Amino acid sequence: MAILVIADHTNAALGAATLNTVSAAKAIGGDVDVLVAGAGCAEVAAAAAKIEGVNKVLVADNAAFGHQLPENVAPLIADLGKAYSHILAPATTTGKNVLPRVAALLDVDQISEIIAVESADTFKRPIYAGNAIATVQSSAPIKVITVRATGFDAAPAEGGSAAVEEVTNAADAGISSFVSEELAKSDRPELTSAKVVISGGRGLQNGENFEMLYKLADKIGAAVGASRAAVDAGFVPNDMQVGQTGKIVAPQLYIAVGISGAIQHLAGMKDSKVIVAINKDEDAPIFQVADYGLVADLFDVVPELEAAL
Ligand code: FAD
Repeated sequence: MAILVIADHTNAALGAATLNTVSAAKAIGGDVDVLVAGAGCAEVAAAAAKIEGVNKVLVADNAAFGHQLPENVAPLIADLGKAYSHILAPATTTGKNVLPRVAALLDVDQISEIIAVESADTFKRPIYAGNAIATVQSSAPIKVITVRATGFDAAPAEGGSAAVEEVTNAADAGISSFVSEELAKSDRPELTSAKVVISGGRGLQNGENFEMLYKLADKIGAAVGASRAAVDAGFVPNDMQVGQTGKIVAPQLYIAVGISGAIQHLAGMKDSKVIVAINKDEDAPIFQVADYGLVADLFDVVPELEAAL
């Protein structure tokens, strides 16, 4: 058995979810190789080689892979993947974009967002917005799997010394091209890898009031998230959405402010280690998952909390 992990990266830095995916691969067993497909991605390959437990790093450094266009990356993975029993990618935007195409090219099914490994062919994954956990067994000759990072601890980023091998079979499929990207810039930690997340909901009433959460977040080095209602109302951009149709987070501490706790929101944060909820309605469903609940008006207690900190 040998497993190919597809690295998530920005060409300059390795994405944190790659480390969790390596842990998932180790749980399956066998040699774990990592593929870094990108352009000018030598530093990412060097970082991947240091991950504990990685056997070999394959690096495909070519302009065709610079923007992770799935039409270019998927054929490369499918080609290299034939030598492996499993192909794993983090369930990030890129992983979810590329891997179904890989599965189609290999004519196998894809197993989405596993949160646990039972054996080499049996995995657990959430269904119905996380309200049930399905145990799935696959008979596919090559198992193509996306991994929910919050389900696995990160593999140590240091301690390995894998060999780095260049892969040269690069081709531009010529059926799509990169136009532009707009990246949200923030000095705060990235939502999915932050240790502390403070999220605001409709209870914040408008975008200006999120300033209270930003101030609080900056005191404790937290990322700021939001409910879909807050995003849909235009209070904050949609890359801040936590939940079933937003980002999945599992920080050490999640503070929900003015969020009712709809199941679609819980689907994105209920695996957080400690959950704190601030809501003026004592019957709000968020209190059912909260470790600490404060029934109070957020406009009183958030400034108080910030002042105390
Ligand atoms: P509300 O439900 O309106 O809750 C606001 C809360 O603020 C209330 O509990 C209220 O008591 C409290 N509040 C008001 N004023 C104050 C105050 N002054 N002080 C303290 N508390 C106060 N939602 C997500 O979040 N993420 C998703 O990914 C997502 N995906 C969805 C996918 C589908 C297919 C569907 C159908 C829905 C999805 N939703 C998602 C929407 C979800 O069902 C809820 O509508 C949404 O989460 C509600 O957001 P909210 O808690 O901010 O708003």
